[in-house]
Amino acid sequence: DPHGRHESESLLSPQETEKQLYGLAGPTVELPDRTFVDLFQERARGCPDAIAVEHGTVRWTYRELERRVNRIAHALVEAGVGTEDVVAVVMDRTPEWIAAALGVFTAGGVYLPVRPDFPVERVVAQLERSACAVALTDPGSEALVRASSARLAAPLTALSVTRVLARGGHAEPPRVQVTPGQAAYIYFTSGSTGTPKGALCEHAGFLNHLYAKIEDTGMTAGGGDVATQIASQCFDISLWQFAAPLLIGGSVRIVDTRTQLDVAAFVEEIVEGRVTVMQVVPSYLEVLLTHLEQHPRPLGALRSVSVTGEALTYELVQRWFAAYPDVQLVNAYGATETSDDPMHEVLHGVPERDFVSVGRALRNVNTYVLDENLALVPLGTPGEIAFSGVCVGRGYINDEERTREAFVPDPFRPGSRMYRTGDFGRWLPEDRLEFLGRRDAQVKIRGFRIEIGEIENKLLTMEGVREAAVVTEGDTSEQRVLVAFFSGSEKVTPEGVRDFLGTVLPDYMVPTHVHRVDRLPLTENGKIDKKALGRPAAETA
Ligand code: ADP
Repeated sequence: DPHGRHESESLLSPQETEKQLYGLAGPTVELPDRTFVDLFQERARGCPDAIAVEHGTVRWTYRELERRVNRIAHALVEAGVGTEDVVAVVMDRTPEWIAAALGVFTAGGVYLPVRPDFPVERVVAQLERSACAVALTDPGSEALVRASSARLAAPLTALSVTRVLARGGHAEPPRVQVTPGQAAYIYFTSGSTGTPKGALCEHAGFLNHLYAKIEDTGMTAGGGDVATQIASQCFDISLWQFAAPLLIGGSVRIVDTRTQLDVAAFVEEIVEGRVTVMQVVPSYLEVLLTHLEQHPRPLGALRSVSVTGEALTYELVQRWFAAYPDVQLVNAYGATETSDDPMHEVLHGVPERDFVSVGRALRNVNTYVLDENLALVPLGTPGEIAFSGVCVGRGYINDEERTREAFVPDPFRPGSRMYRTGDFGRWLPEDRLEFLGRRDAQVKIRGFRIEIGEIENKLLTMEGVREAAVVTEGDTSEQRVLVAFFSGSEKVTPEGVRDFLGTVLPDYMVPTHVHRVDRLPLTENGKIDKKALGRPAAETA
């Protein structure tokens, strides 16, 4: 082709190319030359007495939150944190944790959330990879931070948030310039080679997503919205759950993990807390809905439920609207690398066709469906989903190789970058995108993104293990569990494997079942034949 185009691209008529590149792109909406930091400060001054954060019986007004944010920001600046320096926030989900995250943004730093129950090894790997030198702690994480620090080449500066807040002082934020192009946060996601990848996103993409969430969930300034903060702090969706309501003067209600495990208590909290906006993963929506079908009750002020992280099934949508016809569902689709969700499908009822799409591109987002040569495939043809526009993050921190693989130049918009999701999808006649699954071995277990390869690689590092394979069992997302198979020394027991994995991986990555086999089945070309892995009558745990 003299124009250097790919063959499949030339299959498209100019009209179809035009439609895919511009018609299916999100609307262009100019973003202010500002960031979450000054917009939050402005909001806090505008409604100082409104409730900003609720947790159990604790209530903080905007004034109370802002003061704490400013104190933490000053402490970070005093500790030497400068523009784009990474600050680990190793804290449980409490109001102080939200103040700490906002404090990092306000100091111009990069927020790196770390769960206090993570294994030391994983924490060390994340801190090392992100060249993190400062950590904010709570009483429950001090020991972990100390142990991690001892294993780093240069020890961490650990600041106790409790102590910083007890010191008082500093009503004003530090004089730090935070710009839209600046890095805002890092979330580590599972990595297939055995090491997690730290996805780094910028303020502009962060803010763009917050505006879209506010709009699509119908939150309004002065509207008395109460949004739940439910997700784990190491999951990027936890970020908008507190940041979006704080931009419009709404209130964030932190719902403890313990409450989530007790569905009746969870429902009580939603109703009693006058929650208007909530977000859950599909597997939790299923658990919640099953409970509500058995114990029907109105859900108070609830108006919008966002669902994300895994495919939302048509059956679940049908059941939801049968029970709650007035509560909208937002199916949000995206990846951590693309500033959370670049696509939304807003549902006010059961879709006519019997599946659920992931909707349309958000503002300032371009969605492409591509072949292996990164050429557009015809409308309706399956291909890999890719994104460009303001949502595209900067890449994986200090990992050029893996960044280069996933973040490539946008072939259609010179000068822009594009993120390849590894997801398959296709455009529907309704100009909406259908999600068709993964290209690789990445899976979701109750919303947590897991690379099977990472677990296998970890298992292979265990002394005495010769071969390892991990698969998932269970059809629906709430039944889905990880199952590991291994062969090797007689001394290695399935229990031993689970214990070992528990010391190197987060709990949600430790296989529920472990089977010991003499040898793993192989395919004709010598690869492990995962389809042939049954449940052998071998030693199991
Ligand atoms: P998120 O925070 O949006 O869940 P992750 O980075 O944890 O992002 O996981 C991204 C992957 O999760 C996507 O590439 C896709 O495979 C899957 N995913 C996310 N949202 C949806 C959805 N609404 N429907 C189907 N799959 C989804």
